[in-house]
Amino acid sequence: MPIRIRLSLWYSAIFALALLLFSLGLYGIMERHLVSMVDDAIADRMEHLVAAVRAANPNGEAAESPVTPSLDAFEAPEVYVQVLSRDGSILARSSNLEIRILPPLTDLGKQGTFDVTVDGTRMRASAAPVTAKGQTVAWIEVAVSFRQRDMVLDRLRWVLLGGGLGAIVLVGLLSAALAGRALSPVSEMTETARAIALSRGFSRRLSVSSQKDELGQLAQTFNEMLASLEEAYSAQQRFTSDASHELRAPLTAIRGNLDLLDRVKDMPEEDHQQTLQHVRREVERLGRLVNDLLTLARADAGQAQMQSGLVELDALLVEAHRQALSMSKGVGVRLADLEPAVVQGDEDRLKQLLLILVDNALRYTPEGGVVTLGLKREPPWVTAYVEDTGIGIEPEDLPRIFDRFWRADRARSRDSGGTGLGLSIAKWIVEQHGGEILVGSVPGKGSRFSVRLPASP
Ligand code: ADP
Repeated sequence: MPIRIRLSLWYSAIFALALLLFSLGLYGIMERHLVSMVDDAIADRMEHLVAAVRAANPNGEAAESPVTPSLDAFEAPEVYVQVLSRDGSILARSSNLEIRILPPLTDLGKQGTFDVTVDGTRMRASAAPVTAKGQTVAWIEVAVSFRQRDMVLDRLRWVLLGGGLGAIVLVGLLSAALAGRALSPVSEMTETARAIALSRGFSRRLSVSSQKDELGQLAQTFNEMLASLEEAYSAQQRFTSDASHELRAPLTAIRGNLDLLDRVKDMPEEDHQQTLQHVRREVERLGRLVNDLLTLARADAGQAQMQSGLVELDALLVEAHRQALSMSKGVGVRLADLEPAVVQGDEDRLKQLLLILVDNALRYTPEGGVVTLGLKREPPWVTAYVEDTGIGIEPEDLPRIFDRFWRADRARSRDSGGTGLGLSIAKWIVEQHGGEILVGSVPGKGSRFSVRLPASP
């Protein structure tokens, strides 16, 4: 069942319950009020009649034959009076009683006002004695028919019932219309979401109403989610196309070289070796590229496990320095500021991080330059840095160097054997350790990559 109908049914049910309670209350109050009005009328009439009978018998005449005044002046439509002698025989009746007689309430020895039925007519009746000179002269009975009261209550019942049902239907229809209007943005969202699911058009947006209510916020959040999906989707597409491009380049080179070996049968030994060397380099690069892609894919899927242990970062830096010396090819490698420092993390990943930075520094530093490694304790941080006197990075390129496959100079970097993924992996490792990676660079002078990690106590 649609929410709109469910809401309207709930509203109608709650309204009906409230109306029922209100109607019952009103009906009860009205009923009691009408009875008390009748009782007041009876008491008033009784008072006048008692005074009249007493005035007619000032000396307390013989109980058997008290003088009764004319009752016509005391009767009224629906108001009946009757005078009884002390022993209960009827002395006089108002003419509107016709052949009916009021039941002798004196027999019952009751005082007060009671509901009685006379010839099928429901009445409210009361009896009171008339005394003069200490003697009971007569009894007087006054009765008022319930006809008026019943008519008013009947009409009230119909008004409450008819009006109530009409009001409930109206509330149902209005609440369904209002709920429909309030929920229309949800229908729009459903339509948009369905259209996006079918077409992958993440650039679509919902129109956000100016009202800052819950649905307005939902539409805004939905749009923000679409924006991040669009970003993620286009990043994924960019990544796939970049990855294919990067994979195709070494494959083309390998195929070209193998074709050459196939075609030129009498190639001189030196050229033969050079071609093979070239193929081997491309295969190695392909291997590195596939490894890097695998690392990032696992990182994205949250599957890359990070070990957690105490790692002596100074020992790792010494090892990175040793490896840098073996790869340096005409670039000086120095170790400076080696303070002992321990961090919490994954030793293999941290080694990989240092090697990425050292590898880049050596790759982008021409012969004769210097690469410096260092480690400083700056509580609560430990900062490891790799500095070079290489080609540097243009200021406008700095924000992009951590992007996947980004290179300052594609051709030159590819020639230098890079995959364009090193710094992306480095950034991921640093973030996984709760640290940050900073870079400062002057084009033509050199760069400094600093890794700040939380020190372990
Ligand atoms: P690559 O495999 O191409 O080195 P990286 O992600 O490691 O990929 O680096 C991205 C780009 O950042 C490099 O192509 C290069 O242009 C620039 N870069 C990285 N390190 C240095 C450095 N030490 N000096 C100059 N440029 C650098």
